[in-house]
Amino acid sequence: MEPDVLDPILAPLETLAGVGPAVGTLLAKVAGGGRVLDLLFHLPEGWIDRRERTTIRAGLPGQVVTFAAEVVRHEPPGNERQPWKTAVTDGSAFAELVFFDARRRWIGRRFPAGTKVLISGKLDAEAGRPVLQNPPFVVAADRPGDLPGVEPVWPLTAGLWMRQVAGAMARALAVLPELPEWHDAALLRRERWPGFAEALRALQAPEAPPGPEARARLAYDELLAGQVALGLVRLRSRARPGRALAGDGALRAAALARFGFVPTASQAKALEEIDRDLAAPRRMLRLLQGDVGSGKTLVALMAMLRAVEAGAQAVMMAPTELLARQHHRTLLALSPVPVALLAGSVRGAERARVLAGLENGSIPLAVGTHALVQRGVAFRDLALAVIDEQHRFGVDQRVTLGAKGAMTDVLVMTATPIPRTVLLTQWGEMEVSRITGKPAGRRPVKTTLHSLANLGDVADATARALEGGAQVYWVCPLVTENEDLDLAAAEERFASLRHRFGALVGLAHGRQESAAREAALADFAAGRTRLLVATTVIEVGVDVPAASVMVVEHAERFGLAQLHQLRGRVGRGSAASFCLLLHDDRLTEGARRRLLLLRDTDDGFVIADEDFRLRGGGDLLGTRQSGEPGFRLAHPVEHEGLLNVARKDADVLLHRDPRLISERGMAVRVLLRMFDKKRAIGTLRSG
Ligand code: ADP
Ligand code: MG
Repeated sequence: MEPDVLDPILAPLETLAGVGPAVGTLLAKVAGGGRVLDLLFHLPEGWIDRRERTTIRAGLPGQVVTFAAEVVRHEPPGNERQPWKTAVTDGSAFAELVFFDARRRWIGRRFPAGTKVLISGKLDAEAGRPVLQNPPFVVAADRPGDLPGVEPVWPLTAGLWMRQVAGAMARALAVLPELPEWHDAALLRRERWPGFAEALRALQAPEAPPGPEARARLAYDELLAGQVALGLVRLRSRARPGRALAGDGALRAAALARFGFVPTASQAKALEEIDRDLAAPRRMLRLLQGDVGSGKTLVALMAMLRAVEAGAQAVMMAPTELLARQHHRTLLALSPVPVALLAGSVRGAERARVLAGLENGSIPLAVGTHALVQRGVAFRDLALAVIDEQHRFGVDQRVTLGAKGAMTDVLVMTATPIPRTVLLTQWGEMEVSRITGKPAGRRPVKTTLHSLANLGDVADATARALEGGAQVYWVCPLVTENEDLDLAAAEERFASLRHRFGALVGLAHGRQESAAREAALADFAAGRTRLLVATTVIEVGVDVPAASVMVVEHAERFGLAQLHQLRGRVGRGSAASFCLLLHDDRLTEGARRRLLLLRDTDDGFVIADEDFRLRGGGDLLGTRQSGEPGFRLAHPVEHEGLLNVARKDADVLLHRDPRLISERGMAVRVLLRMFDKKRAIGTLRSG
């Protein structure tokens, strides 16, 4: 086999001189991987600059200080256990050096009273007097070269010492090969970015504290690798043969006539994008993003009817039976052709009828849960699968899903607005359509914040709303992760509200038998109950247009996106709607900002992006364990701007050189291998 330019850095850490199995294991643990490259990517959390001089008086306790001083006197220890103490002064103040380490034995001889020295270490204060415990550097004043200049400070783990990291890092940098430049020369010039190896040296073994350029360069390396990888997967899925679905629009027209409204401009645009995919002879893999109530269902139905017009079948999958049933009702009301329901509870003769109909093609449309595609259900000709609310899926799972039917187009719908950064990094293999705004005639939900101490007032307001004919959701506190406690809170609230409002009050939660829950929701939907106490089971998809008031207890314990989802349950009808967020009096600053943001805006995309920033990009930072592509060099919020540049850069590159065979393309291949983009590299091999 040909030697590979990356061999030295893709090799295990133990290949470095001086790194044995014990240290290697610890290094792999902190670096998040056992390759030399993982260590090189283990960036310092800061740098100590020992070139900078201060005075004892000016130094702050807790800081690392470096100063010139004169030894005043030594205080030898009385016994083996005591430290050696040395008093020094720089004219501004006196400081005491305390040596517990081996230097106790020679410090007095090496630097007798009157010697001028340079001292560097962490300054503490004992009873107000400056003290340095075991200062790592005490050198002769005329030998400043004995002091290191700038020292990186790396994150450590128990049993691992800074100097072990420093030693291994020096070895790692020594084996770092000269690599071809994968970035555009003009970009490097414009941003003043150093080369890859130079950037690593500037951070890991700097001669001066690094500026932002080195870190930005490495962040961009990671971002570009991700975007090129996703771009390759996208190209590949576009190249997969699909079928061209065309239709005369007759079924669509019939459905729209039943619907009675015209699609909004935003719905029409999304549908146009979908139609273009459906008409093209390749597989569709598209994400339809739209806020709660934006009208995704209609768009999905139109797409499904196109498949039927073309003589094929389409299905819609929902994550729960509750949602599947609801979609089924909606489609049934609008569709001019039969729509079957297939879910766990559909059994016996009905199930047999549905299965036969799907197999012989007499049932063109079906709605259901996962059971629909998983359990060897046969279709005569399935052309389109619509998947609702699947935002919790990972990239690999979605690709598998898309691979289910050989020629099946896939449309994924999500009501959770996905932050742009997450979209670009984790959904990048899909095309995206967005529905913005809401169907005309819908009024915004007025959101107000209330202290929990005013629960009584909120209950009074609820009473007035009920008298006025409104229907009310009352969402109970998310107590902890503990479902039992949540349940207890909901049941307690149910009891007290029932005491006040009697039989008007219903209860729905996740632990009920599904029949009981269905009944509770059905009672509420039909107006037999008018106040529904619920846990977050109503978060997704429940559609009761007459409900116009939403009360959420302990709103501060919910995520911003989740509250926005909950709020989306009201404002679905024509009545003025209200959302009352009850919160604890003691709010953290972050919680207060989240609630205020929610009060002040109704735009799900704005909320999603802001939530992402408020949480510091947590979605991406924490995803590595779950197998999602998290970041190690880039910061999802700090480097957001670079991500957009990387997306465009990758698009241009792949447009010019889709097989990565140009000079830059070959260099980008190296980059992909460094960042372990296996699937993308696979597309180059087979394609
Ligand atoms: P989503 O699934 O995006 O949350 P839905 O598809 O459930 O939203 O639509 C929300 C409500 O808006 C439904 O009651 C639906 O009938 C209505 N709707 C959808 N599109 C339109 C439209 N173009 N004009 C009027 N009402 C619409
Ligand atoms: Mg929906």
